[in-house]
Amino acid sequence: MFEKILIANRGEIACRVAKTARRMGIKTVAVHSEADKDALHVRMADEAVEIGPPPSAQSYLVIERIVEACKSTGAQAVHPGYGFLSENEAFCQALKDAGITFIGPDVHAIAAMGDKIESKRLAKQAGVSTVPGHPDAIADVEEAIEIAGSIGYPVMLKASAGGGGKGMRVAYNEAEVRDGLRTTIAEAAASFGDDRVLIEKYIEEPRHIEIQVLGDTHGNIVYLHERECSIQRRHQKVIEEAPSPFLDQATRRAMGEQAVALSRAVDYRSAGTVEFIVDKNRNFYFLEMNTRLQVEHPVTELITGLDLVEQMIRVAAGEPLQFTQEEVRLDGWAMEARFYAEDPERGFLPSIGRLRRYIQPQETKNVRIDTGVYEGGEISMYYDPMVAKVVTYGLDRNAAIGHMRHALDGFYVRGIRHNLSFLSALMHHPRFLEGRLSTNFIAEEFPDGFNGITLDSATLQRVVAVAAAIHRQRAERNRRITGQMPGHVGKVSHTWIIRIDRDNWPVSTTEIEGGYEVSVDGKPHAVVNHWQTGKAWEVGQPLFDGVVDGHRMIVQLDSTGIGYRFYHGGAELTVLSLTPRAAELADLMPIKQPPDLTKFLLSPMPGLLVSLAVEPGQKVVPGQELAVVEAMKMMNILRAERDTKVIGLHAEPGDSLSVDQKILEFE
Ligand code: ADP
Ligand code: ADP
Ligand code: MG
Repeated sequence: MFEKILIANRGEIACRVAKTARRMGIKTVAVHSEADKDALHVRMADEAVEIGPPPSAQSYLVIERIVEACKSTGAQAVHPGYGFLSENEAFCQALKDAGITFIGPDVHAIAAMGDKIESKRLAKQAGVSTVPGHPDAIADVEEAIEIAGSIGYPVMLKASAGGGGKGMRVAYNEAEVRDGLRTTIAEAAASFGDDRVLIEKYIEEPRHIEIQVLGDTHGNIVYLHERECSIQRRHQKVIEEAPSPFLDQATRRAMGEQAVALSRAVDYRSAGTVEFIVDKNRNFYFLEMNTRLQVEHPVTELITGLDLVEQMIRVAAGEPLQFTQEEVRLDGWAMEARFYAEDPERGFLPSIGRLRRYIQPQETKNVRIDTGVYEGGEISMYYDPMVAKVVTYGLDRNAAIGHMRHALDGFYVRGIRHNLSFLSALMHHPRFLEGRLSTNFIAEEFPDGFNGITLDSATLQRVVAVAAAIHRQRAERNRRITGQMPGHVGKVSHTWIIRIDRDNWPVSTTEIEGGYEVSVDGKPHAVVNHWQTGKAWEVGQPLFDGVVDGHRMIVQLDSTGIGYRFYHGGAELTVLSLTPRAAELADLMPIKQPPDLTKFLLSPMPGLLVSLAVEPGQKVVPGQELAVVEAMKMMNILRAERDTKVIGLHAEPGDSLSVDQKILEFE
């Protein structure tokens, strides 16, 4: 076994690998850019080597620097994590030449599977079912249109070297092929340095279901069942679960066996994932093989009881697998939600900033948090905006979802825009609960984006009860403090109006063991102020983790001076405690109107203005391209939303834009 390994990555995955290595008694070396010198992955490792400036192209992607770091620290093997150099043949070869073990598959497997065009060809040969399409790269727009016509619309344009959902467009007609090909080629070249693009049939109502495989150097290859990753936005996964609510035993087995057949065809060793797209009739088609550890591997670990990083390290050290296919377990249900620094209210565009507060839910046997950040740290524009993975486990799907709801309610983060409310909304969505998933789920269920959710009335009443209990507790505390002044006798009222957004709820409170009974609209609710052994809420704390009517309930609260902002179950509420008279007056207050910004095209994210497609004086129609903004290596076309005329430019190509910066002015 190795004595020391280097982790050629950053963020949560570098931390996750370090944890397993430590448990196995292996020393770890971290590498980091200048921006990451205080990062968690650096603190977790035994040693650290700085490898260059913040942009990954000058640090995490520089092969020579990493090979040098191995040599200078005496690391015998490298775990690449995911992304960065994890599927880079030249990196594997360079390590091989330097006598360092790559904790992953062999170079030829990476080469064969790294390219979508090549791997499809190989899969076909291995008897794996593939998506109908054209076997070669597209030469030009005219050819693209011709091929699309023969495959039949809709089609998908994909960067052959692509990954991470980047460089991919669906086209429903000729015009969309024209537009899409240009941006797909540009993204492919910018992100992957390879502008070959392929076309294949777009499978409708698709589900993304993938098979985890694991092979050793002794010819053993097993599949570790499936993960369903159909909940996606921008072709990137947001929620993953194992097993899939859609597969029956026969399909699971057929997919598993095809995945193993493909792996055998390339002498696969280490952990890998064969991705399939599955149609509504459970026909499945090979998409691609990822020759590395996946982001969502924890759900497989929870249902099989295996540590995939440990397995990868053991295989790399030459050990044979210790179990057979028949011995692979599938127990219970696991769910993963990806917590991103991104704004669900702005098309899920990345957000950056400092983590002013960062309190994560407690880890238990049912809750696992994989992260690489800490309070006070920064989510920078240089790297992936994933903050943490929230992974939960239960005996069945509902139990896993229940744990996930609590975990999300208890994740308290301030300082960045993030998607926690959106993840909560998904965990309460009826169609999600039914397991009727498709990769279009988010687009179909949130057609106008995500603008918060409305709580059902039973939940809302429990929120009111919590608000009343909190207010009473606060009032009691104030009385104790002011009561210390001589000559002053404090008195606490037990009845108020709790005003949530614009609704008034009359409440009254009486003391019970551990909390208050709150009557909301005449109905009693028992609010007990702590969850199991957890500490009771005290004035000033941002999380209420208590029990309402016998059920655990977590509410986040930010003081606004006159009241609170509450966050629960994906909803954000303004909460005030008022006297009946003040509540009457509050009804008379006018609602503040936000300023009209529709006269401007605002940058939806921080990024680079790549091009402007219009000039002052030009009339535009809905859907017409106005500008292209590049952010996190994605080309985003901004389009006109109505018939109007451009009357002024506020930025020019090459400008760095901040969020909401004005780009154009309309009539
Ligand atoms: P990446 O390398 O970026 O992960 P994939 O080929 O795995 O690219 O595709 C990513 C996602 O795009 C899939 O999970 C699926 O949602 C969607 N997708 C890809 N190809 C197709 C297709 N032919 N039909 C329908 N959806 C597709
Ligand atoms: P727990 O039993 O730990 O509260 P869940 O949050 O998953 O687990 O709740 C299970 C079900 O009970 C939910 O579907 C919800 O409708 C209901 N429920 C949740 N919280 C409460 C509560 N405070 N009072 C009454 N019913 C609740
Ligand atoms: Mg993929």
